[in-house]
Parts: sequence; C-alpha cells; structure tokens
Amino acid sequence: MRLLAEVLELKTRHPFIIARGSQDTYRTVQVRLIDDDGVEGWGEAAPQRFYGETTETVLEALQVYATVLPTDPFHLEDAEAGFEMALHGNNSARAALSAALHDLAGKRLGVPVYRLFGLDAAKCPLSTFTIGIDTAERIQMKVREAEQYPVLKVKLGTTDDRAILSAIRDVTSKELRVDANCGWTRKQAIRMLPLLEEFGVTVLEQPLEPTDLEGLGLVRQEARIPIVADESCLTAADIPPLVGKVDGINIKLAKTGSLREAVRMIAIARAHHLMVMVGCMIESSIGITAAAQICPLVDICDLDGAALLARDPYVGATIDGGRLRLPEGPGLGLSAR
Ligand code: MG
Repeated sequence: MRLLAEVLELKTRHPFIIARGSQDTYRTVQVRLIDDDGVEGWGEAAPQRFYGETTETVLEALQVYATVLPTDPFHLEDAEAGFEMALHGNNSARAALSAALHDLAGKRLGVPVYRLFGLDAAKCPLSTFTIGIDTAERIQMKVREAEQYPVLKVKLGTTDDRAILSAIRDVTSKELRVDANCGWTRKQAIRMLPLLEEFGVTVLEQPLEPTDLEGLGLVRQEARIPIVADESCLTAADIPPLVGKVDGINIKLAKTGSLREAVRMIAIARAHHLMVMVGCMIESSIGITAAAQICPLVDICDLDGAALLARDPYVGATIDGGRLRLPEGPGLGLSAR
C-alpha cells in the first residue's frame, strides 16, 4: 500500500470568527492510500493549532505512519492500533488515515462505509449551520444566506454576546444553539444563562476553558438547557471524568483520530446517558463525509465545515434542506468536483 499526501488550501465564503480568533484561509491535508490493485482510499486531516497540530506536523507524522501501513486493508483495528503505537497524538493525521482505510475497505467490498458500520443513512439528524462572530449587519446577512438550514449554531464568547443574539433574533425564529468556544469564565457563563433562555437557545456548547470540568458542573447545575463538552472531550478516555458535569459530548474526527474511536465514544457516552453530537472543523467534503458516516448514531449533527467554503473541491455528503444526505457510492462515496 502507498500513501500520498497533499496540502489543500480552502477559503471560507466569509472570514470565520470564533472566540479565539479569525481566519478565512484554512489548510488541510488530503491523504490517499493506494493498494496493490490500484484501489484508492481518501481521507483528510484538518489540523488545529489549539490541539498542537499544523499541516507541517501532519505531513511529518504521515511519513512515520507510512512505514506501518497494513498489508491487509480489512485489519482496521490493528491498523489504527499500529498508528497509535508508531506515533502517539497527531490525531487529525490519524483521522485522515482512518477515513482513507475505511474508504478503501468499503470500495473493495462495494458498500458504503455507513453500511459497514451497520447503519441506516436515513437516520441522520438535521445539520446545524454555524453563524460566526461578526457585526450585527453581517450576522443578519449570514442568517439570510443560511435560509435552507432549520437550526443555527451561534458562536459567542465576545464582549457583546447580547447584541449578537438580539441581531439574530431580529431576523429569524429558528432554533438556536450556542457555542462559546471556551470564551467565558464561570461567572460570565452563569450570568449568560437567563439571556440564552430569553433568546430561546436550546444547547450550550463549551462555555468554559477545557480543563475546568468542575466549572462545567457548576454551570450545568444552574442551566435549564443541555451543556455539551467539545474542547474538553477529545477521545473516549475524556468521557468518564465529564459524567455529571455535562449533558453531552461533541465528537470530531480531528480530535478522536479515528472513526472507530468515534464509535467507541458514542457507546461510552450512551452508557452514561449522555447526548452525542458530531462536529467538524473547516474542511472539505472529504473530512465532512467521513464524519457523516456515523451520524445515524447521534442526536446532533454539526457538519457544515464544507458548506462554509467558497469552493469545495470534492463532492460527498450534502446538506439538503438541513438534512444530511450520505452518498450511496462504495466507501465514502466521494468524487472530485
Ligand atoms: Mg464547538
């Protein structure tokens, strides 16, 4: 098996602003695994500086992982364990390999990856569309542009979060979920709760910094809406300490490092009666379509990363009237645009 990697430069339609910064150009790494019969599996790494990765670290890590590629593409568990043993961390790089191996296995069998996992594609929940931080006028323009999405996810964690919520409520009555991206202190978060309620917000994601699990528990005690952990929950091992502190977890392949770990996380979360959300980074349809494969298992789907792009080089899972639609082709069912 051979591994090829290439940097993809992606631009968002509007500069994408969250509590910890603004950006309009994103670099991800497209991974192609080619087996001895010429069958190709595709994956994408969306590295985040916040988790210690860049495209450069991904490319370096892939060189290490290239030395331990499986000889049998169906030995998915062993392959993923082998990557982890060869080089720990580098989760977005490993996520790209995991997606590519699953794509390859599905193509060899002639079935979509979600069917390999035993899932019914019709069970995907609606996907939210994210409204980044901006001026009131630009936020209202983005809300109008997001007309086809029935649920909006609003980025907060600014000095004027009320103005943002109020600007959005002036132009829509849609369901709103809020993501503070670690932008609040305990006091601010608890002070924000009545405001979120006033504006009809239904979910609050990651109000506090990642390590403040005790604080998350205090916010949850005061909250009447579910609190979801994102930056506090990377892999399965992070779930048990969060039990009792949050109501749900947000799974992203760039954090978990693997589709199989994502499924293990869902099982562990369910055992603890936690809600499960699947999210994404700003990435092309390769990464989004990989994450979409497990969406029939989750409560909340937030897979708008490719929908926020000015131009997506690939065609895969789409969001149709808010509903996530999985491609029917074998593997991830992806094609170049
Ligand atoms: Mg989040």
